[in-house]
Amino acid sequence: MGEYKIRPYIMTDISEITTFEHDVIIVGAGGAGLRAAIESCHQGLSTGVVCKSLLGKAHTVMAEGGMAAAMGNVDARDNWKIHFRDTMRGGKFLNNWRMAERHAKEAPDRVRELEEWGAVFDRTLSGLISQRNFGGHRYPRLAHVGDRTGLELIRTLQDYAIHQGMKCYMECTALDLLKDGERVSGLVGYFRETGRFVIFKAKAVVFATGGAGKAWQVTSNSWEYTGDGYGMAYEAGADLMDMEFTQFHPTGMVWPPSVRGILVTEGVRGDGGILLNNKGERFMFGYIPPKFAAETADTVEEANRWLAGDKSARRPPELLTRDVVARAINAEVKGGRGSPHGGVFLDIASRVPADVIKKKLPSMYHQFKELAELDITKEPMEVGPTCHYFMGGIRVDPDSQMSTIPGLFACGECSGGMHGANRLGGNSLSDLIVFGRLAGLGAKEYVRSLKNSPRINESQVFSIIKRATSILNREKGTNPYLVHEDLQKVMQDNVGIMRQEEEMKKALIELERIKESVSQVKAEGTSQYNAAWHKALDLRNLLISAEAVTRGALMRQESRGGHARLDYEGERDEWLAYNVVSRKGSDGKMVVEKIKRPEPPEELKKIAYAKIEDLEIGKI
Ligand SMILES: Cc1cc2nc3c(=O)[nH]c(=O)nc-3n(C[C@H](O)[C@H](O)[C@H](O)COP(=O)(O)OP(=O)(O)OC[C@H]3O[C@@H](n4cnc5c(N)ncnc54)[C@H](O)[C@@H]3O)c2cc1C
Repeated sequence: MGEYKIRPYIMTDISEITTFEHDVIIVGAGGAGLRAAIESCHQGLSTGVVCKSLLGKAHTVMAEGGMAAAMGNVDARDNWKIHFRDTMRGGKFLNNWRMAERHAKEAPDRVRELEEWGAVFDRTLSGLISQRNFGGHRYPRLAHVGDRTGLELIRTLQDYAIHQGMKCYMECTALDLLKDGERVSGLVGYFRETGRFVIFKAKAVVFATGGAGKAWQVTSNSWEYTGDGYGMAYEAGADLMDMEFTQFHPTGMVWPPSVRGILVTEGVRGDGGILLNNKGERFMFGYIPPKFAAETADTVEEANRWLAGDKSARRPPELLTRDVVARAINAEVKGGRGSPHGGVFLDIASRVPADVIKKKLPSMYHQFKELAELDITKEPMEVGPTCHYFMGGIRVDPDSQMSTIPGLFACGECSGGMHGANRLGGNSLSDLIVFGRLAGLGAKEYVRSLKNSPRINESQVFSIIKRATSILNREKGTNPYLVHEDLQKVMQDNVGIMRQEEEMKKALIELERIKESVSQVKAEGTSQYNAAWHKALDLRNLLISAEAVTRGALMRQESRGGHARLDYEGERDEWLAYNVVSRKGSDGKMVVEKIKRPEPPEELKKIAYAKIEDLEIGKI
């Protein structure tokens, strides 16, 4: 008898593959995907949602602090113009103006709508939706449910979406898009449990796949954040934009090592927590940027008055935007003034009564108690920057959310433009519900405009499947877990919170080497229940995301928001521009092009650069 050999898996007939057909397929069941699904159902379209994990287990569920909307429930001076101004200033004026305008104007209605659909928010004494302070927001603006806002958002949206007729395909990973000519015709995916491939035929596809924080070692992101939307869109020929703007949240846990990177919500600072170095100094007073000086308290006494509710006092410097606070912490640690485990101290225990902490920040209390054996009502926390959010993403039209590929839409964290160079806390959850809805509407307009349904191209299906099965079928190759660790180290060491040319050039060389490893990656076993295979499949998208960030960062010779360079300090006017990433040329290389940001209409410009008093009294 000859030697037994496992027969390679070769698909020869497309009818072997289960096909589901919908008008619209949405990839991702976080806040953005579910809100898009609800809108698509409302428009009478057959709607399918594909998600990598179980319904309800998207990243959105982890959101803690709240969603920003200028409802003026806690401070009546708030309005959409001030929210717009805060967002533009936070984004260092690189935001897509139209998106920031729609977001600020529409967020309050989207929050009220959630309430109608069953969301139970925390309340003010007079029974309105309560709103809390957050970094960069002029007034208390974050509608919240304790520190479990994302959970309530997801619970509400998924219940409501199911009742509107959305069909959900859980634990199913999208692999790549299918196209009929230039336009989208669906996608190929696989069910994670059985390893079986599946075709989704659709007239329009909406990506709501979130970011790519898993390209770094220290991150607040979960295993799902592997940049799949970026990778699939890029491979299909769509533009990405401003990928270099990666947000390092100032406060992640730093100790013990097993929990390094897990988020400590900005709500701790919003509710009175302060940052201290190992000398006990409130060091943020030394890091107030000149642009924010007029609106920031410059003495401890004034900051304390603000925390005690004095409306004439200016905001404490701990509530400056995330980019500023993260860099300040980085500088304190580098300057030898850090905490024992390489962070700084976040103290709420000495400032807020224990029962209030437990009521307002229950998850934080339990998180530290269980994971770090620390009682935050008695002791300060140790915190440091953690990779948290992608401001850049798939380039979309600000009104329809359509990408540069006809029929492909994107919303939520996987799309770019709205947040410019830096996102304000709380502006993501409101982004999901505003732009998720617009993507659903955009998909409807597009589907209605089609004269004929797109067709599935069999050879595209086979080549996607071949790419996936070759990981199992090659006799030997690189270990996907080690390749992922390698990639994370390269990004952590060379494209982190402070960047410089030499290191980023080194990263690009290393990424080329890793590209080679990814092309030879091998998972043992079959496609059923195969975690190593899933990991191997994620690598291409992680790599595309990492390369796009690095190339964009190298090209942008300035420091702005989430992108800080040691060799090019400060913002430069000539860089009030987008970095557009695409695959070009016959060799399919990644190209970054600088495109001037469109000029805003005069009215919006006036608001963005206005004096705050003029907006408060309605002069503008
Ligand atoms: C710990 C933490 C706290 C936060 N707190 C706040 C806050 O208080 N306020 C705020 O505004 N923002 C907050 N954020 C940010 C905010 O939660 C996220 O930006 C937002 O939830 C992203 O939503 P999304 O719908 O775009 O993506 P997600 O909620 O992550 O959903 C992505 C979906 O895509 C699916 N998916 C991905 N790839 C594939 C694929 N290939 N095939 C199929 N499915 C796929 C996933 O399974 C998932 O269903 C926080 C983030 C973290 C990590």
